[in-house]
Amino acid sequence: MGNNRNAIIIGAGIGGLSTSIRLALQGYKVTVFEKNSHAGGRCGHFEKEGHRFDTGATFLMMPEVYRSTYASFGKEMTSELDLHQSDPIYRVKFNNGIDIKFTPDLSDLQRQLENIEPGSYNKFLKLLHQGHKAYKQAMKHVIDHNYTSYFDKDMLRQIIILFRFHAFSNHYRFISRKFRNEALRDLFTFREGPMSYASSVTLDMPRIM
Ligand SMILES: Cc1cc2nc3c(=O)[nH]c(=O)nc-3n(C[C@H](O)[C@H](O)[C@H](O)COP(=O)(O)OP(=O)(O)OC[C@H]3O[C@@H](n4cnc5c(N)ncnc54)[C@H](O)[C@@H]3O)c2cc1C
Repeated sequence: MGNNRNAIIIGAGIGGLSTSIRLALQGYKVTVFEKNSHAGGRCGHFEKEGHRFDTGATFLMMPEVYRSTYASFGKEMTSELDLHQSDPIYRVKFNNGIDIKFTPDLSDLQRQLENIEPGSYNKFLKLLHQGHKAYKQAMKHVIDHNYTSYFDKDMLRQIIILFRFHAFSNHYRFISRKFRNEALRDLFTFREGPMSYASSVTLDMPRIM
């Protein structure tokens, strides 16, 4: 396809790089402009005094998007990247002694949550289920949708979906209706500003690579 077509990408973050790959595969001659001396954008890190600090992304979220980008140029994500499941995924310590290891081991998580607030584990599972449903719907009808006009014919359906999944409501208020314990409310929202219950939260993450 059109070898004389040019594309200019501003920014070598994960978005710019993925778009560049896909355009190059369609035959575009792609030039990427990046203001920093390195690529990666917010997927960066620095090391100080033996500690590694992520400046942005830590977890591999939406792996299917990365998988499909790798697949678009004939590679398999898992053979290209050295990926490890981290356990715990992260750990949040509250200054009143509550210490939660957010682990993929559901029976361990159940024990921890039930110790803090009886009944909270089932509420957490329900939340997970709702979140998964919202994610699937949003991917299908909103994220993967190509917007070519302000008056897109699917706009009404998309707005209804966003309302149905509480996209316009206050997340902290939404979570507070489910959990009474302040630490759990903070855990499930990571809300900004002073925590009402814990004045400090430590994220203690294992290195995954
Ligand atoms: C604290 C934090 C934690 C996060 N945690 C996660 C996580 O755990 N998992 C996850 O999946 N996502 C996470 N994210 C989100 C994820 O990092 C971003 O969604 C993703 O990196 C965005 O990629 P991007 O390419 O769209 O933008 P960016 O990464 O912001 O890239 C934009 C690039 O454009 C460059 N640029 C901007 N303006 C110009 C210009 N005028 N000329 C040239 N270059 C320019 C910038 O220097 C940058 O390199 C986190 C983000 C933050 C901030």
